[in-house]
Amino acid sequence: MTAVDETPIAGVVELHGIRKVYRSGSIEFEALRGIDMSIGGGEYVAVIGPSGSGKSTLMNILGCLDVPTEGQYLLGGEDVSTMSEAQLAVVRNKRIGFVFQQFNLLASLPAWRNVELPLVYAGTSKAERRARAVAALERVGLGDRVENRPGELSGGQQQRVAVARALVTEPDIILADEPTGNLDSESTEAVLGLLDELHLSGRTIVLITHEHEVAARAGRNLTIKDGLITADALVGAQ
Ligand code: ADP
Ligand code: MG
Repeated sequence: MTAVDETPIAGVVELHGIRKVYRSGSIEFEALRGIDMSIGGGEYVAVIGPSGSGKSTLMNILGCLDVPTEGQYLLGGEDVSTMSEAQLAVVRNKRIGFVFQQFNLLASLPAWRNVELPLVYAGTSKAERRARAVAALERVGLGDRVENRPGELSGGQQQRVAVARALVTEPDIILADEPTGNLDSESTEAVLGLLDELHLSGRTIVLITHEHEVAARAGRNLTIKDGLITADALVGAQ
């Protein structure tokens, strides 16, 4: 038998020995204590753990919003652990879409202006930005709300605007940190439905949550406790 390819397939996300130490004055706190994990392209992974376990710290590192104190992070095979802030900003913009619990929308801008922002940073032309922002809002069911400011939208609608902003750049990876934490059950279902759709369209999804019901939507659950991954299980019917 001839082995065609014996090289193990590298995950789109590979963490090796990631530690994160926060320092405030003389006090140190080790929020991540040696994380090893691999996430394959197109996987839908939930990271579940109690408050204070290190979920957001992990998300900030995965999203290149922060750098580890120690360890290696390969994103799409590229070592991002040693990149400068400017290089990280480019990687973030090109490869990652973010959804946060607090939506993080700019209150003074209409929905479409919020959604086009990542394209402004990417240098996309004005006409194309508007067209893509409107298309992204249509995709999340808000084609009739493109001119509304966040304050004129419900929490669920605001989070759908945030999902549109996350997907407008067509990123490989969507990172969502407690995206349904501030939503009622109907809006939760709408946002989780959108994440399901993005997963089906081939995106890699990392969903951070402390709720088991939400985590069950993913194909795989990583449990984090006191800065360490304590379980890694395939779940659901996928
Ligand atoms: P989670 O998202 O799971 O609730 P976090 O990643 O936000 O947890 O925080 C993990 C731990 O690190 C907590 O004990 C928190 O107090 C601490 N921590 C988070 N950010 C900082 C910071 N900037 N400075 C010091 N400690 C921090
Ligand atoms: Mg958190």
